[in-house]
Amino acid sequence: MNINLISDTVTQPSKGMLDAMMNAQVGDDVFKTDASVNELEAKTAALFGKEEALFFPSGTMANQTAIKLHTQPGEQLICDKYAHIYNYEGGGVSFNSGVSCKLIDGHRGMMTAEQVEGAINPPDFYHSPLTTLVCIENTTNKGGGACWDIEELKKIKKVCKNHNLAYHLDGARIWNAMVAKNEKPEQFGELFDTISVCFSKGLGCPVGSVLVGSKAMMDKALRIRKILGGGMRQAGYLAAAALYALDHNRSRLADDHKKAFEIGVALENLPFIKKVEPIETNIVIFEIEEGSITEAVFLDKLLEQGISIIGMGQGKLRMVTHLDYTDEMHAVFLKTLKKL
Ligand SMILES: *Cc1c(COP(=O)(O)O)cnc(C)c1O
Repeated sequence: MNINLISDTVTQPSKGMLDAMMNAQVGDDVFKTDASVNELEAKTAALFGKEEALFFPSGTMANQTAIKLHTQPGEQLICDKYAHIYNYEGGGVSFNSGVSCKLIDGHRGMMTAEQVEGAINPPDFYHSPLTTLVCIENTTNKGGGACWDIEELKKIKKVCKNHNLAYHLDGARIWNAMVAKNEKPEQFGELFDTISVCFSKGLGCPVGSVLVGSKAMMDKALRIRKILGGGMRQAGYLAAAALYALDHNRSRLADDHKKAFEIGVALENLPFIKKVEPIETNIVIFEIEEGSITEAVFLDKLLEQGISIIGMGQGKLRMVTHLDYTDEMHAVFLKTLKKL
């Protein structure tokens, strides 16, 4: 049995999803005549209470488009030091937008409104870059799947308003946050100017992300997506997978969260585990006690049993539960952990 916990992106489309894809009505989305893409965009926009949405081949491209929308070269955005846009998008912030990042030393990828306010450069001080954007990530990836307190997000929104800053949410795993905290998409839609959401993570699609925002924003985003090479033709086959996922794969995320929590409990009982970060959603981040076994040996031992997890650097290891991680695999994995 192969158990792959390196990411929630490793899932294969289910039979139901494949059927939906095969039966999709498609057109040419560059001419905006793909019925399935149009339906997905309308549905996602409505879900978040936004005017419009745009389908993207990746979350990276959706985030990069948002950053480009909200900034001019030379300006600065504010994000946590763990942010995906800063750590894992290939330097796109500077490559695509010519923008720098002011990093906040937050808690598990989350910052306070006070920290954000303190990071804004005075707009009349022309020596420093002009601050124009704040980027949030929910759930936090490098922060271990932590969920934001929506009250703090509201406070940051106020700071943005007072200082004329745009407010973007990298919601690659917002689906997980909403299930874990029983929140509604409109609660995020009313706070943020733009939100990117992923369908290829916990929702189990092969490809796809959507950016939501105002009509004016999405008109601009369409051109940026084109420039970045993200204009796709019969993309409806992919949009159909996302439509299927919206209907079938959201509430079941609670099951991934439960399994992640149980893995965390099992890890805490192992003598050579130094620390397991609190588990709120489907991500488990933990550290091995120094002087016990090395990270490489631990990974090898698991691999011998057909179990793959991933190292995140700085002594941290990560596992992510997902819809292809079955009850049967979970039972085997917990047993294997006990025997290590
Ligand atoms: C996965 C992820 C993205 C987008 O990644 P793609 O692989 O480009 O789809 C963006 N933000 C976060 C927090 C992610 O985990």
